[in-house]
Amino acid sequence: MHLYRRIREARMVASSLQSTRHPVLAHIIPIRRCNLSCAYCNEYDNFSAPVPIDQMLRRIDLLAGLGTKNITLSGGEPLLHPQVDEIIARIRRHGILSGLITNGYLLSPRRIRQLNIAGLDYLQISIDNAVPDDVSMKSLKVLDQKLVWLSRYAAFAVNINSVLGSAIRSPQDALTIAKRARELGLTATIGILHDGSGQLQPLAEEQQRIYAEFARSQPTRWFQFERYNAFQDNLVRGLPNEWKCGAGSRYLYICEDGLVHYCSQQRGRPGIPLQSYTQEDLDREYTSIKPCAPYCTVSCVHRVAAIDQIRQNPLAALHRFFDADDTGTSQLPAAVRGLMWLFAPESNTGRPRRAGLVLLRLLGLSKH
Ligand code: SF4
Ligand code: SF4
Repeated sequence: MHLYRRIREARMVASSLQSTRHPVLAHIIPIRRCNLSCAYCNEYDNFSAPVPIDQMLRRIDLLAGLGTKNITLSGGEPLLHPQVDEIIARIRRHGILSGLITNGYLLSPRRIRQLNIAGLDYLQISIDNAVPDDVSMKSLKVLDQKLVWLSRYAAFAVNINSVLGSAIRSPQDALTIAKRARELGLTATIGILHDGSGQLQPLAEEQQRIYAEFARSQPTRWFQFERYNAFQDNLVRGLPNEWKCGAGSRYLYICEDGLVHYCSQQRGRPGIPLQSYTQEDLDREYTSIKPCAPYCTVSCVHRVAAIDQIRQNPLAALHRFFDADDTGTSQLPAAVRGLMWLFAPESNTGRPRRAGLVLLRLLGLSKH
């Protein structure tokens, strides 16, 4: 199962490198309602009904028609949708990678097995603190048993994301949460809390220190890339990123009303119904300038942009994403070391390696 998912991921990356004319990732909302009410959140309500299943399935089919490679259910709390398994199964039927972002409260051994059967590929839980407070109930204390069940029963990959930001009272909890996730064989990442439009809220010195400690504690084996996040490394220091946001093209956010938005933090733009969204819209948004880009904290869109940066200049992009780390090249994930070797010029002639050129040609990135 694990190997099969890796092969499908590699195919997704290869096809996203080959062409810029399809979405790499779409987030879709099956229900806006949430069973929690985190103080910093602007993405939920406490009353909305689930999107009817026929509309959800139609939206999945439309995303497949646009060539989307990865569809993640978000919310609100997507597990409140009574037919979430059917939606995931439809995503998989199209050969698309399927993900789910949840607060974890509704997970049980039975629910996890149902998600296995539906064909879920990834699940992410955000945990904000060690014990609940009036900002967030997404706490390790409440969710630890769910993590144990996930480590025992999940056939899908599980990532635990914790956040740093001014609303979080005990930033050191992020380290405790990551340690526990790794003990259970799950991966851990860290996010930065944003303001109401997805923009950076500067981190205090203590939070920056914790971020650095967290990054150092991330494993660097084989295909593990969680440690490397050049976008976030800049933001943590209060620095802007120079990049092109592909929202509306390489990344789509589909709200409960079936409208396409740039992202959860820039709703209303472009605000076009998914059934009317065309290749022309995808092409236009690929090159449109988003003024919110320099201090944007929406990390999934950063990751999508990384694929396009590698597409444009593989070696420069690999150095940009992995050189900032202080572990040295020998500790980089094996896949990255392999790619750096392939794309680096030969030391004796200074010319590009033949194997690297062949790979670029196979990916359609070079005509030579
Ligand atoms: S659990 Fe998630 S969607 Fe629900 S209120 Fe908290 S952050 Fe928002
Ligand atoms: S830069 Fe892109 S992803 Fe970030 S807030 Fe703006 S539109 Fe959203």
